[in-house]
Amino acid sequence: MADSERSVRQWRHPEKRNRPDNPPRRKPPWIRVKAPNSPTYFETRDIMRSHNLHTVCEEAACPNIGECWSQKHATMMIMGDTCTRACAFCNVKTGLPNRLDPDEPENVARAVKTLGLRHIVITSVDRDDLDDGGAGHFAEVITRTRAEAPNTTIEVLTPDFLGKDGALEVVVAARPDVFNHNLETVPGLYPQVRPGARYFTSLQLLAKAKELDSGIFTKSGIMVGLGEDRQAVHQVMDDLRAADVDFLTIGQYLQPTPKHHPVIDFITPEQFATYEQAARGKGFLMVAATPLTRSSYHADRDFAALRQRRRDLA
Ligand code: SF4
Repeated sequence: MADSERSVRQWRHPEKRNRPDNPPRRKPPWIRVKAPNSPTYFETRDIMRSHNLHTVCEEAACPNIGECWSQKHATMMIMGDTCTRACAFCNVKTGLPNRLDPDEPENVARAVKTLGLRHIVITSVDRDDLDDGGAGHFAEVITRTRAEAPNTTIEVLTPDFLGKDGALEVVVAARPDVFNHNLETVPGLYPQVRPGARYFTSLQLLAKAKELDSGIFTKSGIMVGLGEDRQAVHQVMDDLRAADVDFLTIGQYLQPTPKHHPVIDFITPEQFATYEQAARGKGFLMVAATPLTRSSYHADRDFAALRQRRRDLA
């Protein structure tokens, strides 16, 4: 067995198809969104297709796709459409991924240029099969995109690279504007929701990114409605502030299929406002907390505000 294959098997978890069915709950009125139908939505979709790119917008069945793509805002998902982990909230398929596409950095860069973006979010599947967890590929995508579209600010939303030595350093050295890594949920729910990850590994990754480059903006997010209690959400906020994270996002978890973790609660907009207020009080530079918040939702607008906030405080 190749080392890469062994690594994947080690980190593979029970297939999603073996999980019990949890019929999705009916969404409350504050979650409903309009079906996408604007010409710009279809233009964005065509650019993604013609450059052979995957987006998390589609793979994750994101409810905001109509709004985001109508503003040419998309989150590109690099390193394929197959993930080496099987998180209980995520709609991306699990398995042994294909080899990296050497043309992908250039394709991403060209698509960013064609879309004429001010800000791009680049994420990936987990690639525990690769020696560097995919860090080198991330760095190449950043470098090529910077060369092709020098006025576009770049946000990366990375996996934890399994904590592999030197992986984070490679990504940070490529100088993304924002380093984002989501905690996804409170620590007590990791065994059910994010079984291949460790809460403190993720926290350390965020803290280290800021240590490596104090000028970088760091960002993290969680989903709520997975069964967490409020005190645990406040603990996550404190842990992220201790890791010097600048920007926190909190959004409602939505169950993609009956095989995924059920929605335990639909959190009300009022409770989101309470979380936002508490997080601001704890010192984050920016907080986005609404039912439809996703880590990349309004990322371009929020990055401009984040940068301005830091300037104001300087
Ligand atoms: S919120 Fe993020 S993932 Fe969802 S459609 Fe917008 S850019 Fe894509």
